Amino acid sequence: MTTVAFLGTGIMGAPMAANLAKAGFTVRAWNRTDAKAEPLTAHGVEVFDEPGLAVAGADLVLTMLADGPTVLELFTAIAAAIEPDAVWIQSSTVGPEWTAKHAEAAAKAGLAFVDTPVLGTKQPAEAGKLTVLAGGPDELRERCAPVFDAIGAKTLWVGEAGAASKLKLVANSWVLALTNAVAETVALAGQFGLDPQSFLDSIKGGGTDVAYAHIKGAAMINGDFTTSFPAKLAAKDARLVLDSAGDADLGGVAATLVHLEKAVEAGYGDDDMAVLYRGVVDS
Ligand code: NAP
Repeated sequence: MTTVAFLGTGIMGAPMAANLAKAGFTVRAWNRTDAKAEPLTAHGVEVFDEPGLAVAGADLVLTMLADGPTVLELFTAIAAAIEPDAVWIQSSTVGPEWTAKHAEAAAKAGLAFVDTPVLGTKQPAEAGKLTVLAGGPDELRERCAPVFDAIGAKTLWVGEAGAASKLKLVANSWVLALTNAVAETVALAGQFGLDPQSFLDSIKGGGTDVAYAHIKGAAMINGDFTTSFPAKLAAKDARLVLDSAGDADLGGVAATLVHLEKAVEAGYGDDDMAVLYRGVVDS
């Protein structure tokens, strides 16, 4: 039976690890905060209190941590404990620059590496319906496919390590722009004294409609910021996008980051990214 070590069982990692166990993998998990990993034992996942113990004997090591520096620090600490023929599947959103550092660390440790960010949020992660973006050597495709099939509805192989992280940032710039556009639109309706729901009703079924507007718009209108994607991590991704933008003027993402940072500074960093609405309406 193939063994997967799963490091980082937060909002995304916990359901991904559970789906791997449900698909028949032996899953050995670790999370910095033990309490978030413990419920996985109900799915047959073995939980360890040291990451070095979790990776022992694993065929594949999957990281789903907050950001690039955290991933590099953890990997550096445990690299010697990883089996020499294991594959490191790096799924945290870290951008291409950190991915290059991770790939270099893997090469130094003699380990195979696949850059594997995912599209989708908490609910698709629970349903095993993420979109897996993969960048790495062709010869690793077959070994990784059962893992990707367990966590995702589809996999897009996009080239070498780094390419998948670039595509992830492209997709996230879209998500950031959409969320900010919904927040500003709902806020404008409020300024006019209109029921903001009337905006959502007005676009429904038309050429400018998008399901995401209704999900995030409802969250903003109802003030229900139950977390699918933490605002502080959305701010991290906005910074990654802007750092990678080169000569392109991504003013929309910059404005989104301002609103996210206002919300984070006001104490809403662990709420859903839709809380950037507070950054739009709170002076
Ligand atoms: P999350 O629940 O906050 O998970 C973050 C994970 O990183 C937790 O396991 C956390 O451990 C760990 N962590 C943070 N700082 C650490 C440190 N210094 N040392 C060790 N572990 C540390 O958020 P998430 O949404 O699952 O995000 C995980 C990754 O997936 C991020 O890169 C995020 O950008 C990406 N992502 C998220 C979504 C989404 O919609 N939520 C979608 C696609 C990709 P603790 O539990 O101890 O804090």
